[in-house]
Amino acid sequence: MSAGPPWARSQELYARATRLMPGGVNSPVRAMGSIGRDPIFVAEGSGAELVDVDGNRHIDWMCSWGPLIAGHAHPAVVEAVTAAAARGTSYGAPTEAEVELAAEVVERVPGAEMVRMVSSGTEAAMSAIRLARAATGREKLLKFAGAYHGHSDGLLVEAGSGLATALGARGGGESAEQRAFPGGQTGVPASPGVPAAVAAATLVVPWNDRGAVEEVLGEHEVAAILAEPYPANMGFVPPAEGFLPFLREVAGRTGALLVFDEVISGFRVARGGAQEREGVTPDLTVLGKVIGGGLPAAAYAGPAELMSLVAPAGDVYQAGTLSGNPLATAAGLATLSLLDAAAYDRLAELTAKLAEGMHEAARDAGVPVRVASTTGLLTVFFTEDPVESYEDAKACDLDLHGAFCRAMLERGVYLPPSQFEAWFPSLAHTDEHVQRTVAAARAALAEVAA
Ligand code: PMP
Repeated sequence: MSAGPPWARSQELYARATRLMPGGVNSPVRAMGSIGRDPIFVAEGSGAELVDVDGNRHIDWMCSWGPLIAGHAHPAVVEAVTAAAARGTSYGAPTEAEVELAAEVVERVPGAEMVRMVSSGTEAAMSAIRLARAATGREKLLKFAGAYHGHSDGLLVEAGSGLATALGARGGGESAEQRAFPGGQTGVPASPGVPAAVAAATLVVPWNDRGAVEEVLGEHEVAAILAEPYPANMGFVPPAEGFLPFLREVAGRTGALLVFDEVISGFRVARGGAQEREGVTPDLTVLGKVIGGGLPAAAYAGPAELMSLVAPAGDVYQAGTLSGNPLATAAGLATLSLLDAAAYDRLAELTAKLAEGMHEAARDAGVPVRVASTTGLLTVFFTEDPVESYEDAKACDLDLHGAFCRAMLERGVYLPPSQFEAWFPSLAHTDEHVQRTVAAARAALAEVAA
């Protein structure tokens, strides 16, 4: 820790930032409001660690919310990006590296035969939905409560991530309309500025609820069932046994396309994402985060027959000035080249150790938690009950979670500052990082449980 007040420079910058930027940040959850403190400003990152502007060092389990599966400033990624930058940062014309990256995605992801690159997960999900609507000639969407697919109008309906965080911070609560339809069959904007008519085309059902999915699909012709196959924006809430095969079957039966948003799970939970691990192939796949290796890149992908509807092969329009730009493409390719079978074995082992350590620390401190984890994803839910849906996640002790995050920060461990997010173990984390984190958790839990 630095001499003097540990967060003085961060506080100074935050005061200045709040006059210049809404809430002082460029993305809401970074503000740390939901854990009851001000944000920490980062100076640099290396491997699994961050150094803040006051010189405090943190073990970083957030890793930029998922892209940094190789950790901060991995030498191979830095070298690839630096070399690409020297050759020019953007041409707005095709490059060889884009072809290589598309081939890499197609080789890894079972549902990908053709790929279109974009610059953010928001853009990728929005574009995949446009394609699904064009392909089916239908307009409605089915999404799951607590799932987040970016901030496009039609998808800001019972969305997780930062929206869940904001709700939690306000003490939770749904709109009157949502209470009136417990099955969640009505699309109500989750943000002012989203047209009611747009939100109304989005039908929301509880995650893991087969009956609700059947009911909605029985009443509506739906263009797409949009799901995070491993939802991680209400915390990590895995699919119940058989739920993903059920979605595959019911989509086929009702003429809807199955769209998996693997922005988080893609290239993280397995080489070919959750779809490879679960053996369920969607019609369209949305990718982001790891595909850009820490630079802005995302993609949507699917069978040639569907993807050929996208312009200029077809007439479903979608474009982007910086799509597939050389820097993001280089970072993505360099990152993917690190992700072999051995890497996933290590990531699985490390995540399992972290989960076990956190479970034991909480048990010994007498704090009831549920630890949900899989390769490269983990959430510690502050509840004694199973967490299988957004409702369950919202029922967690958010104040205790906030106090825990604050106490961890005081001990040099940077966690995602919301109960509705996942920790992102990376290949840069070591057993020593796990041990230090678990030791800090023991002390932090003893403090907050007192
Ligand atoms: N889909 C999922 C599953 C996500 O987790 C996110 C972002 N966390 C998005 C889409 C949106 O991605 P972006 O922030 O790059 O727009």
